[in-house]
Amino acid sequence: MSLKRPLYESIIDVDEFKAAYDADDPVQALERAERAVSTTEREYMPLCPVCYNSVSLIPKPGHRNIPNKIDTRYRCGHSQCGAHFNEPAKSIAELREEAREELSTAARHAARLARVVGVDR
Ligand SMILES: [Zn+2]
Repeated sequence: MSLKRPLYESIIDVDEFKAAYDADDPVQALERAERAVSTTEREYMPLCPVCYNSVSLIPKPGHRNIPNKIDTRYRCGHSQCGAHFNEPAKSIAELREEAREELSTAARHAARLARVVGVDR
């Protein structure tokens, strides 16, 4: 009988891994990790335009005859939202870049205006 620990225990901290995915065992934690959306990718994924809290945008097939069907291209997969919409919102990365550009433009305008009216900072 071998007393060697499984290889993965020398690579990762199993307790930390289980805690990160709120799992009872490493297999369950791995299953949850594989299903989880990567936080890196998430930043570049389009958002639900209603809740701005979900990248789970479910494309809806156009050809099915479903009773009470709402005729839009997507449905938000967030359990608290579920909005139906045609156009997703921009990604967090795109919105952040837009915000930076707007702040920069606003700062230039404010500086120009301050010079014109003679206001010191
Ligand atoms: Zn939503």
